[in-house]
Amino acid sequence: MELLLPTSTAGSLPKPSWLAEPEKIWSPWALEGEQLSEAKQDALRLTLQEQRHAGIDIVSDGEQTRQHFVTTFIEHLDGVDFENRKTVKIRDRYEASVPSVVGAVSRQRPVFVDDAKFLRQQTDQPIKWALPGPMTMIDTLYDGHYKSREKLAWEFAKILNQEAKELEAAGVDIIQFDEPAFNVFFDDVNDWGIATLERAIEGLKCETAVHICYGYGIKANNDWKKTLGSEWRQYEQAFPKLQQSNIDIVSLECQNSHVPMDLIELIRGKKVMVGAIDVATNTIETPEEVADTLRKVLQFVDADKLYPSTNCGMAPLPREVARGKLKALSEGAAIIRKELSV
Ligand code: ZN
Repeated sequence: MELLLPTSTAGSLPKPSWLAEPEKIWSPWALEGEQLSEAKQDALRLTLQEQRHAGIDIVSDGEQTRQHFVTTFIEHLDGVDFENRKTVKIRDRYEASVPSVVGAVSRQRPVFVDDAKFLRQQTDQPIKWALPGPMTMIDTLYDGHYKSREKLAWEFAKILNQEAKELEAAGVDIIQFDEPAFNVFFDDVNDWGIATLERAIEGLKCETAVHICYGYGIKANNDWKKTLGSEWRQYEQAFPKLQQSNIDIVSLECQNSHVPMDLIELIRGKKVMVGAIDVATNTIETPEEVADTLRKVLQFVDADKLYPSTNCGMAPLPREVARGKLKALSEGAAIIRKELSV
């Protein structure tokens, strides 16, 4: 990236109300069939325009074509029954209705590649595409077949690698794997979580990122955060091994979190995509607040390795709020760019 401090979003953006019920995650589609396909593409064009208008440098699909960042991918695989959903506890925290694995999993056809090609046609800006990571996938389903989280994670890693290679060929510049589960299951992360993630990025030439966070700004997550105390040291568990991995970028939660900044030193040498926008509040940050967060991070990261971003998925936010937050992010980054250039 030639531009210093390129801005991006960590994940989803709000959907228009004609596409899906707003201010909600896992929101069902408002249309079906041909109309739905057309509406998804229109929403994608719209979200791209909004990102461009706000001054975001690395753009994405804002997850306009998927219902949820994990289950939509899983539902497109063979060996999965998504009609008979099961309610399971995910992230060791809250109940969710998820698909079931009923046989050997495989990918018969690309899942997001056509959407990525469509996005690529619409813009010359760098594009980032998010996929779920292997560990977060196995934590967002019911497994009635493999009966081994690790075994299934390796299967998913192979499938993700196939998809990632086709996304790269479609012109995606950064492929991001979302691994909120890395902040919960520490032993598994170090035993096989990071290893399966590296399997998923094997042979890729584009940039790769892992996004590790404390979840959407929903009540279950906000309540959980209250139990974490004054210092959130979860990143300490995964960072040393991630620092040794082939992943290029680590995306983390920062704004209004209690993550001690100096933990960033544990991923020395990596590019850091830092969440400078809080998604758990409708209050729009001022550009100066964003700049302040970035200044603090710059004590631990070289400027050429800092990627200002949002904390996480913005899908549940009102669209106006999301637009305001994106603008604050790019204006905050601009303040720092100016400071660095003098
Ligand atoms: Zn996240």
